[in-house]
Amino acid sequence: MDTMLSPESHFVVIPWPTTSHIIPIVDIGCLLAAHGAAVTILTTPASAQLVQSRVDRAGAQGGSAGITLTGIPFPSTEAGLPEGCERLDHVPSPDKVRSFFDANTRFGDAVARLCRLMTSPCRPSCVIAGMCNTWAHGIARELGAPCYIFQGFSAFALLCCEYLHTHRPHEAAASLDELFDVPVLPPFDCKFARRQLPLQFLPSCSIGEDSLRELREFEMAVNGIVVNSFEELEHGCAARLAAATGKIVLAVGPVSLCRAPALDVPDDARRCMAWLDAKKARSVLYVSFGSAGRMPPAQLIELGMALVSCPWPVLWVIKGADSLPDDVNKWLQEHTDAAGVVDSQCLAVRGWAPQVLILSHPAVAGFMTHCGWGSTLERVAAGVPMACWPFTAEQFLNEKLIVDVLAIGVSVGVTKPTDGVLTGGSGEVKAEVGMEQVKTAMNKLMDGGAEGEDMTRKVQELKAKAKAALERGGSSYMNLEKLVQSVI
Ligand code: UDP
Repeated sequence: MDTMLSPESHFVVIPWPTTSHIIPIVDIGCLLAAHGAAVTILTTPASAQLVQSRVDRAGAQGGSAGITLTGIPFPSTEAGLPEGCERLDHVPSPDKVRSFFDANTRFGDAVARLCRLMTSPCRPSCVIAGMCNTWAHGIARELGAPCYIFQGFSAFALLCCEYLHTHRPHEAAASLDELFDVPVLPPFDCKFARRQLPLQFLPSCSIGEDSLRELREFEMAVNGIVVNSFEELEHGCAARLAAATGKIVLAVGPVSLCRAPALDVPDDARRCMAWLDAKKARSVLYVSFGSAGRMPPAQLIELGMALVSCPWPVLWVIKGADSLPDDVNKWLQEHTDAAGVVDSQCLAVRGWAPQVLILSHPAVAGFMTHCGWGSTLERVAAGVPMACWPFTAEQFLNEKLIVDVLAIGVSVGVTKPTDGVLTGGSGEVKAEVGMEQVKTAMNKLMDGGAEGEDMTRKVQELKAKAKAALERGGSSYMNLEKLVQSVI
C-alpha cells in the first residue's frame, strides 16, 4: 500500500470494547496509518493481544509504521464484573450489561485523562470512537478536534435507523410482528417487523433508557460517520445517509483487506485449513454466526441434522459449545468431526475460527451467516454468496440488503431474533427453523441453478469492486485520504 506522509494528522482511535467492533476499527486505524497519519489506538489489557496481532499483520502490508498502541486498565471489578471481563462479548449474563456500560464510562474518564496529556506535536487532531463510547465527543471537544463515530453497521442499516428515529413507524405497529415500511431505498420494498429491528427500537433491552438516550445524543453530536463499506456496494446509501443526517459520511472499506493473511495461525486454525485443503474447489459450505451467535439447543439440533445430511462438506463453527446440554454434546460427538480428520464431511469447530482465511480458501462455495456486517463485508471481499440467518441487532436489515437489494444471498426465512445478552434472553427453547427449511435454503445457495450462478457472478463482480475501492484512486482510498487531509 502507498504511504503518503501527513505527519500533522494524529488520530486517536477508541474501539467500543467488543470483539467484532475491535477488529474493523483497528483495521481503520491501520488504513489511516497507511495514508501517512499518526494513529494512537487506545485499548484495554485483555484486548491488547487482539489489537496487536491486527496491527502486526497490517504492518506486513506496509501500513503500521505510525501506530502506537496504549493499554488503559478497564475497571471491570470496580463495576461489579468478573476480573478480566473487558469486552461486551465476555459479559456473563444480561443482568451484567449495565455494569459493563458503567465500567466503560469510568474507562472514558481514564481515556480523557490520558488524552489531556497528549500535547503538541502529538496532540490529537481527530478522534474516531466506537459506537457506545459516548464520552469521546466531550474529549474531542476539549481537544478542539473533530469526532467521528464508527458504528460497525452498513450504511443501509444506518439509513434505516435514521428513518426509524425520525419517523418512528415501529411505534404505530399493532404488534411486534406487524410489518411496516421503511422506505429508505426506492424502488426496493423494505418492510420490517418491530422485533427485527436493532435494540434501541425494541420495547425493552438490557442497555437501559438513559444509556440509549446518551447513544442517540452522541450520534447526533459527532462531526461525521465512518462506515466499513465502499461506495459501489450499497446503492448510494452513504450519500443518502449524509443527506439524512447532515453529517460527513465516509465509506472506507472493506477494511479487512488491509490485513495480510495470518501466518502464525494456532493449531486449531491449521486443522481447519488442512481440512479445507483436502476438499474440491467450490464444494464447501461454511456455517458461522459471528463472534457470539448462540442458538437454543433445539435449534442447533435442527440445523445440525440438515448440515450432516447435506451432500456438501460443511465447516460449522459453534459458539457457546461449553454450555450445551449433555444430549446435544453427545449428538455433536456422534455426528460431526471435531479433530479435523481430512476426509470427514462435517467439521465442527468449537470456539474461534480463522474466518477471513477460510472465506478466501478456494474450496469454500457458500456461507451460512447471521448477517453481521463484519462477516458480510468479508464475504463480499472474498466473493462468496450467502444464506442469511439473522440473529439480532441490525442483522435483519443487512439480510434485506444482501437478498433483495444486492441479490447475493438467499434467506433461510427466520422471522424472529435469537435472544442474546443484550435483549435480555427470554430463555426461548423452541426451534423456529426446521431441518427441511434449512435444507431448502442450502440447496438454493449451493445448487441454485441459473439463479445461483447469477448470485455468484454478482458477488464476484462486487469482490473486484471491493478490491478496487481500496487501491490508489479508488473510492475508499480517496475517502481515507479526505479524512486524513481534513484534519491537518
Ligand atoms: N470471527 C472470526 N472467527 C469466528 C467468529 C467471528 O474470525 O469464529 C470474526 C469475523 O471474521 C468478523 C467478526 O469476528 O470479523 C464478526 O463480526 P460480525 O460483524 O460479522 O458479527 P458479530 O460478531 O458482531 O455478531
